[in-house]
Amino acid sequence: MTELVSVITCPNCGLAKAEKMPTDACQWFYECSGCYLVLKPKQGDCCVYCSYGTVPCPPIQAGDSCC
Ligand SMILES: [Zn+2]
Repeated sequence: MTELVSVITCPNCGLAKAEKMPTDACQWFYECSGCYLVLKPKQGDCCVYCSYGTVPCPPIQAGDSCC
């Protein structure tokens, strides 16, 4: 069962927000609604959910490499 909601925590202001992940695409950019910082994946991660979310993106959950 794939979890589609990931809570992203902003590394700048600490705001946590639940976001629904797309199942067919990686999200590279995420704008924090608290401080408007645009988050990008950390090196080695495929998307913002893998870097900052509580749940990694659906392809990673399924055991595939992303993209
Ligand atoms: Zn922020």
